[in-house]
Amino acid sequence: MGTKKEWYKLSDRATELLNRKATKRFEDAKDEAARHGFDELNVLEVTRTLYQDLQADNQSVFLELAQERYQETEPHGEEPPDLAWALALLAAYNAVTKVIYDNEVDRKRQYTAEGINSSTAKVTEFRRGLHYWADLTATYSDIVTDESTLKAYRDAGVRRVRWVTAGDEKVCETCRERNGKVYPINAIPPKPHRRCRCIWEAVK
Ligand SMILES: [Zn+2]
Repeated sequence: MGTKKEWYKLSDRATELLNRKATKRFEDAKDEAARHGFDELNVLEVTRTLYQDLQADNQSVFLELAQERYQETEPHGEEPPDLAWALALLAAYNAVTKVIYDNEVDRKRQYTAEGINSSTAKVTEFRRGLHYWADLTATYSDIVTDESTLKAYRDAGVRRVRWVTAGDEKVCETCRERNGKVYPINAIPPKPHRRCRCIWEAVK
């Protein structure tokens, strides 16, 4: 339903599942790189495969999340998000992962140039990568949740929504000011910060 408690439940579950998968993938990639003595070319290849796999995991779980969230949203229409919808939404996301990957490659090249080649440094790199990835996944789970909810509303003919905060002490100043305000569904101000737990109620 559209209640506060339910809104991000599927999102949190998807994030948890993806982070478990990512932890395993980073662990395996690190082991694989270690087996080759963190040889530069091998690390690049392992990292490339790693990010491809991570992206594929996220894509399929996010699509499921979007479809389930659509169905549980009230009211909802009759066109649940499909792969094309998910891909369009994640296009921005893919751009972000591309940046991460390029940065990783750059940083590794820099490390080599500076002669920082210890295995400890390499292991730390993998740990940092996982941390960053988990953060990104959580952010995008929420975006997928919000966007599939809005699609459900639009498909059902909802024209306006009411901004409702989570109502706890963590609500920021901007969100508190928006609490209770009604916005046209196509002119909702963007969420002011990541992991914002405000919801939008359909206004009849
Ligand atoms: Zn908020």
